[in-house]
Amino acid sequence: MAKKSKAIRITEEIDRLYDELEKYQEKCKHKSGTKLYTADTGNWCKQDDSHTVRFECDICLKIWTVDSDNPAYTDPENKFREIKK
Ligand SMILES: [Zn+2]
Repeated sequence: MAKKSKAIRITEEIDRLYDELEKYQEKCKHKSGTKLYTADTGNWCKQDDSHTVRFECDICLKIWTVDSDNPAYTDPENKFREIKK
């Protein structure tokens, strides 16, 4: 079998590290970070309007977005600092 090229080895290493990062982010309790409220309104069809909150964790750097109308959305302890665009 031919020796793997450097690019292939680097790509495999990146994949492995992404996996590691994902596992780390899964375990993280996201105790501090930022939140940014965003709105996409004024659409022709009102149903297309959306209000979301984009969270970013300081610790694991995970970024995720939730619909602010979603009852599952909570930041009850107000752990996240609000940032403005
Ligand atoms: Zn986190």
